Amino acid sequence: MIIQLKEDISEKQKQSLIQEVNEIGYKVTEVKTQLGDYLIGIGKKAFDIRKIGHKDGIKDIHIVSDEYKLVSKKWKAKPTSIDLGDGVFIKDGDMAIIAGPCSIESEEQIHKVVGHLKANGIRMMRGGVFKPRTSPYAFRGMGIDGLKLWYSIAKEQGIKIVTEVMQVSQIEEMYPYTDIYQVGARNTQNFNLLDELGKVDKAVMIKRGISGTIEELLQSAEYVFSGGNEKLILCERGIRTYEKASRNTLDLNAVPILKSKSHLPVIVDPSHGIGIREFVPQMALAGVMAGADGIIYETHEVPEKAYSDGQQTLDFAQSALLADWIRKTFAMRKSFDLL
Ligand code: PEP
Ligand code: MN
Repeated sequence: MIIQLKEDISEKQKQSLIQEVNEIGYKVTEVKTQLGDYLIGIGKKAFDIRKIGHKDGIKDIHIVSDEYKLVSKKWKAKPTSIDLGDGVFIKDGDMAIIAGPCSIESEEQIHKVVGHLKANGIRMMRGGVFKPRTSPYAFRGMGIDGLKLWYSIAKEQGIKIVTEVMQVSQIEEMYPYTDIYQVGARNTQNFNLLDELGKVDKAVMIKRGISGTIEELLQSAEYVFSGGNEKLILCERGIRTYEKASRNTLDLNAVPILKSKSHLPVIVDPSHGIGIREFVPQMALAGVMAGADGIIYETHEVPEKAYSDGQQTLDFAQSALLADWIRKTFAMRKSFDLL
């Protein structure tokens, strides 16, 4: 059960409400986000919400039987729109394009990618400065100094920064230079990290875990939301299956399913999803047709020389073509009014 509280509810009214819900046999957790206050009641017993619905201080009350609640569409049918400022949004009915290298490598590289994005009307740049690498001997990123450098160049050009946060201690130092905190597939269930990101008033994009279910992804998002931060984006980036022919299995089924279960925007990462450069464009366009609100992909001036994930990275010519096709495909999807 989700009880949305009125802004002007008194402490006394709230306590009496909590007591009443407890008496029904429900355990109550208070949730305060940057946008609203809620009481989440967890319990099994069926009861008539009219019994408490009339009480003072209640804005609305909803029964949500799913394990995740605040990220569910069952109480908030209106899609969540992420406003990054300067006219940049990630939202339902729109097509966000986020492109950039797997890793931020140098000042020269940043300038080149930013120039490429600007020339193609792309307003959001991805790139890792803290890289989760399977081998400790692989390039692990430029760290916070790389992020500062990137920010100084991107900011001037009106480009928003999407970058991975790997641990709690990085949240604060990254804050001034980050527009979207990316939670990587290896950290989807790092619950301490999710808790702390709940306290931040910047957008968080949560990638699906390497072997994570759709339900688990939604519960990870619930951690951040119930921690206080409603600015959330879900990302399908492929899961590990028995299939070895591709790096991961991009589960495009997840897109319409997530969109139907949650009010949060959903974006697709075809680069990690298939892991093979020549097939990234078609999977990106398939993601658009599946109903995604955005696509995030890897691009680099010379993919063969990229410090990480070169095998799945598009060069600038391919990226320019893909951005154009993403927009055309999205226009087609809209004209079909598929979703
Ligand atoms: C990345 O975006 O470069 C990355 C490491 O992604 P994932 O967490 O999906 O593997
Ligand atoms: Mn990568």
